[in-house]
Amino acid sequence: MTAHTVYKEPAPIMDRENPLESMMSRFNIAAEILGLDDETYNVLKAPDKQVIVNLPVTMDNGKLRVFEGYRVIHNTILGPSKGGIRYDKHVHLDEVKALAAWMTWKCAVVDIPYGGAKGGIICDPTTMSVGELERLTRAYTLALKDVFGPDRDIPAPDMGTGPREMAWLMDEFSKTVGATSPAVVTGKPLVMGGSLGRTEATGRGVMVSALAALAKLGLEPTEVSAAVQGFGNVGSWAAKLLSEKGVKIKAVSDVSGAYWNADGINIDEAIAYKNVHAGRLDGYAGATLMENADDLLTADVDVLVPAAVEDVITEHNARDIKAKLIVEGANGPTSASADPIINEKGILVVPDILANSGGVTVSYFEWVQNRQGFKWTEEMVTERADRIMSDAFEKVYQTSVKYKIPMRIAAYVVSIDKVAQTYKFRGGF
Ligand code: NAD
Repeated sequence: MTAHTVYKEPAPIMDRENPLESMMSRFNIAAEILGLDDETYNVLKAPDKQVIVNLPVTMDNGKLRVFEGYRVIHNTILGPSKGGIRYDKHVHLDEVKALAAWMTWKCAVVDIPYGGAKGGIICDPTTMSVGELERLTRAYTLALKDVFGPDRDIPAPDMGTGPREMAWLMDEFSKTVGATSPAVVTGKPLVMGGSLGRTEATGRGVMVSALAALAKLGLEPTEVSAAVQGFGNVGSWAAKLLSEKGVKIKAVSDVSGAYWNADGINIDEAIAYKNVHAGRLDGYAGATLMENADDLLTADVDVLVPAAVEDVITEHNARDIKAKLIVEGANGPTSASADPIINEKGILVVPDILANSGGVTVSYFEWVQNRQGFKWTEEMVTERADRIMSDAFEKVYQTSVKYKIPMRIAAYVVSIDKVAQTYKFRGGF
């Protein structure tokens, strides 16, 4: 590569279902059920704003490389937009647009006063030094200084970014406005305004919604088994908290493979193992390595928690799923083509925009605390987040009963209805 080419590998998005199309197909069904008028439909079907930035960064070898980055603001009618920033070589504008829209629906479903956004930079953070990543994050922040802001657009971590990047972003933004501005970003380190309870928040929300769904099915947590795909932040916390409620976790997986133990995996032990093995389960002896990692999705368990990547449940494997309940920890783990098969089989699905919204809920609490200049206790965070998750679950469940529709579509109905009603009240076109 020469010094001034834009680093852009071909993204493999077209090899799988386009997440934007997946999102839109569900949106269209919900819009039809709601009888959404054409005007509001046309406003909501496309993002409010899409910003593409070219970011020149001096690499450690002294050469300049230009990275392409995005920030998509899907909608801000409910409040400032909120959404993570992804660093990955496969970042694609269509994916960012879908993720931004999902953030609008997610914030609306849990009734927090935010719109939706998402950002991304095409880069491979695993091959970059800490210094290069810092310069890239600062360049991105500077390029988007007029987009970001505690009352405008509030980023957070996503794949490939974490508290470290959020600290750099907060620092760079604060310099541009000449005042420390902790509320411009969430997911910060605890010492600089992060919230207690944020790390486990998404997995905890998965647990709360799984228990609520089990109750609807008339099942006790102590009499069911589960398989969890992905053993990162969301998967490991969901598995830990579900097992503490008595659910027998028979299978877990990560990039190294899937691990099965019919007697139940000791989740604390598995987490301790991965923590000293570079975050991976390779060689974990408390369970047997499954021959085919994808078999976890069709394993003989009552509850399936996909908590890794998009589009893992498809029209090709949905027929073989044995679980009665799917709780989507990941964003977009089920492709739209699998929906009819899952519905026909009578599997209850707690959809991503509801099941994993515990994360953005506690991000909202972080922003509230930053603006209050006051720190909440962990109990305050947990108790309030659990209540929000339970209320949102019940609202979506009742909507699914009222319209006789799956919970996925019901979640879109609840969200789109809230956004559409707000447009009616605010008006202004
Ligand atoms: P993470 O990077 O902490 O963990 C991802 C895990 O998935 C790792 O264990 C990895 O090894 C595993 N994995 C990757 N590809 C896999 C595959 N093909 N099969 C099995 N395992 C695989 O990420 P995370 O924060 O836990 O996020 C997981 C999902 O949850 C993503 O879809 C993310 O967008 C979504 N999500 C995360 C949060 C959050 O607060 N972290 C909030 C909402 C949604």
